[in-house]
Amino acid sequence: MKTPVPDPDKRCTFLFADGRRCRMLQTRTDSTLCPHHAKEEAQQREAEKLKAELACLSGSVNSVTQICEVLGKVFNALAENRISARTANTLGYLAQLMLQSAPSVRREVNDAVGHTRAYDALLRHQLPVVRKFRKV
Ligand SMILES: [Zn+2]
Repeated sequence: MKTPVPDPDKRCTFLFADGRRCRMLQTRTDSTLCPHHAKEEAQQREAEKLKAELACLSGSVNSVTQICEVLGKVFNALAENRISARTANTLGYLAQLMLQSAPSVRREVNDAVGHTRAYDALLRHQLPVVRKFRKV
């Protein structure tokens, strides 16, 4: 018995590192990828978006609230299967490191300014939720 050969135009356009083309059929949507590679591509896009959100936390003084907000987004993306468990683990680990360093950052800012509440004052200006309730 002969195996039916898929129409080359309907085959997934994903190319492997060695130059071979995926042999699966495209999804029924407007994607040119098979369901497996379309899912991988969507997860990659979502992971890039979350990485960008985590990256915006770097280089500035971050509050625990900001870090937890990003972690919540990672949690939702994982629960909705928009990112891989591996990516979620990596992002979670990075967020854990940020949370563990928060007390040191607080101490360093307070010491640098020479005031025990300097870090708190800094956060009052950074956090949108605090700005919302702050008296003008
Ligand atoms: Zn494919």
